[in-house]
Amino acid sequence: MAPATSSSSASAPSDQVSRRASILARHLQNTRNSNQLPSLESSICLQYSPAEISNKSDFETRDLRRLMDGHNLEDRDWLFGLMLQSNFFCPRSRGGKVFVSADYNQTMEQQREMTMKRIGYLLSLGVFEGWLTKRDPESELRKLAFLECVGSYDHSLAIKIGVHFFLWGGAIQFFGTKRHHDKWLKDTENYLVKGCFAMSELGHGSNVRGIETITTYDPKTQEFVINTPCESAQKYWIGGAANHATHTIVFSQLYINGCNQGVHAFIAQIRDADGTICPNIRIADCGHKIGLNGVDNGRIWFDNVRIPRENLLNSVADVSPDGQYLSAIKDPDQRFAAFLAPLTSGRITIAANSIYVSKISLAIAIRYALTRRAFSLSPNGPEVLLLDYPSHQRRLLPLLAKTCAMSCGINWLKSIYVKRTPEAIKMIHVFSSAFKATFTWHNMRTLQECREACGGQGLKTENRVGHLKGEFDVQSTFEGDNNVLMQQVSKILLAEYMAAQKKKQPFKGLGLEHMNGPCPVLPGQLTRSDLRSSQFQTAILCLRERDLLNRFAAEVSLYQAQGESKEYAVILSYQLAEDLARAFTDRAIYKIFLEAEMTSSGPLKNVLGLLRSMYVVTILEEDASFLRYGYLSPDNAVVVRKEVVKLCSELRPHVLSVVNSFGIPDALLSPIAFDWVDANSWSSI
Ligand SMILES: Cc1cc2nc3c(=O)[nH]c(=O)nc-3n(C[C@H](O)[C@H](O)[C@H](O)COP(=O)(O)OP(=O)(O)OC[C@H]3O[C@@H](n4cnc5c(N)ncnc54)[C@H](O)[C@@H]3O)c2cc1C
Repeated sequence: MAPATSSSSASAPSDQVSRRASILARHLQNTRNSNQLPSLESSICLQYSPAEISNKSDFETRDLRRLMDGHNLEDRDWLFGLMLQSNFFCPRSRGGKVFVSADYNQTMEQQREMTMKRIGYLLSLGVFEGWLTKRDPESELRKLAFLECVGSYDHSLAIKIGVHFFLWGGAIQFFGTKRHHDKWLKDTENYLVKGCFAMSELGHGSNVRGIETITTYDPKTQEFVINTPCESAQKYWIGGAANHATHTIVFSQLYINGCNQGVHAFIAQIRDADGTICPNIRIADCGHKIGLNGVDNGRIWFDNVRIPRENLLNSVADVSPDGQYLSAIKDPDQRFAAFLAPLTSGRITIAANSIYVSKISLAIAIRYALTRRAFSLSPNGPEVLLLDYPSHQRRLLPLLAKTCAMSCGINWLKSIYVKRTPEAIKMIHVFSSAFKATFTWHNMRTLQECREACGGQGLKTENRVGHLKGEFDVQSTFEGDNNVLMQQVSKILLAEYMAAQKKKQPFKGLGLEHMNGPCPVLPGQLTRSDLRSSQFQTAILCLRERDLLNRFAAEVSLYQAQGESKEYAVILSYQLAEDLARAFTDRAIYKIFLEAEMTSSGPLKNVLGLLRSMYVVTILEEDASFLRYGYLSPDNAVVVRKEVVKLCSELRPHVLSVVNSFGIPDALLSPIAFDWVDANSWSSI
């Protein structure tokens, strides 16, 4: 089933077995024949003891996996199996186990070619079947699960697939109409067309409405004419543009009879099927990056590029053959918002991917900490396991709890997304923005902590954790810069607040209904049982959100009363806006996690209860707004801090089972997650 590979770094498993056998034979021969070599006696060495021997939890890991993965478990395992079988995925043997990982020592060009070969392999096995031609929720969930699996192998692979299917394909699906669907979707699914998505420019990234590419209409030929009028209008960072894409979505200002109708999207061909760049198109490479070098990001200039009138993606606006601009939405701002609103899938996939990667790094760091020892408490006493140090628990277990909570959060969002109705679009926009920003920041923090928790081993590329930092750093910037997304979240909450006040109507939607009831009252002196009760946890998270929304609205009004515009007043109130967006996100995830816990029973419910309490006390400890605005007294903040330590010790016996429930094949972890002594032994070289 596995095709032959041209990669020099990959070798067939049978080759590896014989290579390993010959190394072992050579090693044994050497030690028999040469007395001058020091003998590597196992008795004087550290003995690796598998984490499984002393760490057994009483819940079923497959039950927790069902909650963590949420959907398509068997499909995920099938796809993982395909990746593990193929030499395109670079299997390597270490310590008696086979690991797969992209070869990041390859040049940028080689990494790009390998990404395309992996896509070709997955395509040939039918992995992408129905990705654009089937729209039912089951097919959509399967597609999302598959993207998570490939992303847990290599970010470049996921992004290259994501740009083609979710950005190019998504733009055709959502911004286009039947004529575009009929013409492009099937060919995209089969990779006869390779698509990219040219929105960002050198001069404008977050501010899409400010882009400078210009498109005019020529009624004589019934064509649009696209131009890059200045250097800052060159399309920049366009994934797929540098080497492989044949077509692109071009975002551009549309001028009709001299009047700017705002940003619209068009389809343009940039290369022919042989890869030759089309006339009037210029393309340059964005060059080497700190990660994601398997994606060919490029820059594009358009010099009077002519495209047929039908290539305007016309879901909200069209141009008639004689050049009349037609749209049911008259206000350009509303038109632009309606146009872009459906394109939320990219943020959802990024959020989901970041959680998978957090899981990988935690599984590696926790497994390592359950087998690595450092320092003895008494002379000649056994050295202490890293994870038995309370400080080490404190570094990893709150991140583990957050990862589990966020995992449930993204599963909930995916379930809403795949059954979306027009009414749900605003809600999906808000939650996908909040989750994308929060989860990707969490991912980077988790990767850094796990990297450090693995000590020097964390720096080895083969151990993945350290390297993943560079590969996934970009998540906080593309598909909406995190800070900008969080500002949008708080602006929408402010608009909800203003509308409820103005219409004198209760809050409805976005989980803000708690604002309609009386303000929660918290106990004066917190106890352990308060801190672990869902009633208290709900109350304090709602109280913070409610109070911050009131404060944000009041501060914006104050600035406006002082003569500032509403827009500038919001900008000036950025600190409250940041606190509010965080409070909104934390409360939303908490609620989803609590609901997931309620579906469980027995020992699993107990562990989920510990994770949920850990999630909340970590938030109470980390966010200064609890002290700043007095939701917690200094005395109660001390109680919270102690509870983090207690929860760490209670979670400690369960953590191996928790990371085992992440459903990540051993081959996608790394040598330090298993027998790292054997993996590093002389005989393994
Ligand atoms: C590897 C990679 C791949 C990409 N792929 C694509 C692609 O395929 N297609 C595509 O169209 N684009 C792509 N992009 C572009 C990406 O979407 C943009 O980089 C992103 O939108 C941010 O824009 P920018 O880089 O211009 O940053 P800017 O918008 O200039 O932001 C710079 C900084 O300013 C801050 N900032 C911006 N506005 C505000 C504000 N209002 N208030 C406060 N702070 C603010 C931001 O938080 C950020 O920290 C890619 C980028 C990268 C790095």
